[in-house]
This record gives sequence, C-alpha cells and structure tokens, in this order.
Amino acid sequence: MREFKAVVLGAGGVGKSALAVRFVRNEFVEVYDPTIEEAYRRAFEVDGEMSMIEVLDTAGADQFTALKEMYIQHGQGFVLVFSLTQESTLREVESLRQQIYRIKGENSNFPLVLVGTKLDLASEREIPTSTLDELSSRWGGVPIFETSAKRNWHVQDVFAELVRQMRQR
Ligand code: GDP
Ligand code: MG
Repeated sequence: MREFKAVVLGAGGVGKSALAVRFVRNEFVEVYDPTIEEAYRRAFEVDGEMSMIEVLDTAGADQFTALKEMYIQHGQGFVLVFSLTQESTLREVESLRQQIYRIKGENSNFPLVLVGTKLDLASEREIPTSTLDELSSRWGGVPIFETSAKRNWHVQDVFAELVRQMRQR
C-alpha cells in the first residue's frame, strides 16, 4: 500500500483540527486544544485503490518558524485551510502558499488543495464563492472545497482530491 504525507496549514481557529479529526475519526470536536499538533494516520480508499494517509495537523504561532519549515519539507501534499467566516484567513493562505514555494522550489508543482471551513455558518459567511473562483484561476486551477467539519460536508472530498494528486508523483 502506498503511503502519503499530507500537511494541514492555516491560521489559528479556522478549523484545521476539526477537519483532520472529522476525516480520521469521523467525529466533530467542538473544543480542541489549539496548541496540539498531531499526526494522524488512516487507510483511505480512493477510486477503488487503498492507500495510507498521514495527516499532520499543525498548530501554534501563525508566523513562519523553523518547525513549520520542517513540516513543509516533510510534506508531499498540502491542505491550506481558511474560514469562510473570516476573510483575513484567506490572506494567511496566500502567504503560506508562497512559503511552500520558497521551500519546495519556485518552479515546483506540489499537490495542493484549498479548503474553506464552517460552511454551516451561512449567516456569518464573509467570502463569496466568486472570490474563490477567481483565486482558483489565478492559482492555475487549484481545487477549492467549501466544507463543514461540523456537518461532515465535503471533508472526504478534500482528501480524495489530494490523494489523486499525490498518486501522480
Ligand atoms: P484550528 O485552530 O485551526 O485547529 O481550529 P479548530 O479545529 O480548533 O476549530 C476552531 C473553532 O472553530 C472551534 O470552536 C470549532 O468547534 C469551530 N469549528 C471548526 N470547524 C467548524 C465547522 O465546520 N463548523 C462550525 N460551526 N464550527 C467549526
Ligand atoms: Mg488545531
């Protein structure tokens, strides 16, 4: 069985842990220690083929650190997470993408998906789909998913897409 390493990055409080825990344990954690950094593993079938996926849920300071640099070096695929309810978190994702390029090489072409969280909080939404469509085309068609870890909307789709991209390597 092939094994893939995915790294989940994004601003604090956007729902990285909720997304990771929904994917690996199919549970929603209402309150999760924001400082906990953990690698989860699960077997995952995509298009009839089983693989093992390691999901590294990062935490802590939003700024760039040596530790984060190590995660990026170690990672094969990246899940960049922002909250649909907080526009500023989309800028953090832009900066993270640049940092990945800096570490992986300016001309690298790494597996990447963008994830907007908290889709269930419709009345608090700040980022329209049209903004995300524009961003996706600006970034060469990177897939963007609108998800809810709470309601379990489109969480599996995120990781299935990432596995498909990682298999191409
Ligand atoms: P992290 O700091 O990025 O790991 O964020 P957490 O996963 O700890 O989530 C931060 C807060 O957002 C918590 O109170 C979660 O319950 C909440 N949250 C995360 N995902 C969702 C979601 O899909 N819907 C709703 N309503 N709340 C969410
Ligand atoms: Mg967390």
